[in-house]
Amino acid sequence: MTDDQFGDWIRYHVGAFPGIATWLESNPDQVPFWRRAIIAFGYDDAVRATDRLFEGSAPRPTGWGQHAAAVRRLCREASSDRLSRPIVVDGEYAARCARCGDTGQAAVWRPTLVRYLRQIYPEAIPLDWMVRPEVRRAAREPLAERIRAGRPEPAKLSGSPDIVCACDCAAGDRYADDRKSAGGRTIPGNLRFDASRMAQYAGGEAGVEELNQWIRARKKPR
Ligand SMILES: [Zn+2]
Repeated sequence: MTDDQFGDWIRYHVGAFPGIATWLESNPDQVPFWRRAIIAFGYDDAVRATDRLFEGSAPRPTGWGQHAAAVRRLCREASSDRLSRPIVVDGEYAARCARCGDTGQAAVWRPTLVRYLRQIYPEAIPLDWMVRPEVRRAAREPLAERIRAGRPEPAKLSGSPDIVCACDCAAGDRYADDRKSAGGRTIPGNLRFDASRMAQYAGGEAGVEELNQWIRARKKPR
């Protein structure tokens, strides 16, 4: 879920258990821990978990402080239930999630890079420097000047343009723990796919053009 959804969920949960409001007010340090425990799961699963605790169809925690752990446990159960039911289309197993193919990992354009490109190229982004080394070399000088003029950090232009994050689907929930390493790739702490600020990564010029369109679609009209 997104941060906004986490805020919505907290309000929903406090609505069901008003005593938690006072408890969180006197234990404000707990909020970041609650966020960490819950944010990797889907908003709908978290709301359903709150409902189950409220109705009593899941064992109610003994203290307010235990609620986040209880919701987290129910979210995890819900997502692994979904994953254990295979989907078959035309006699073949199909992936539930087109974004990650049920691996739980999605490659995205590095969000810092994307944000930065939008800053230094308010008109059009000559992204071809990212695909073709010779263009990249030729572009380096003028780009360096623009970088100096605009005070952005050159570090954002080096290194890999893509990073791996946990998918926002149920398969991505398996990376909800603090250690997000699997299959040799490490997912930076708590990084979950967020469609509002992340563009899926695809290599080659087609991938760059896709990113360009993604960025154009999000530009404020002048
Ligand atoms: Zn997925």
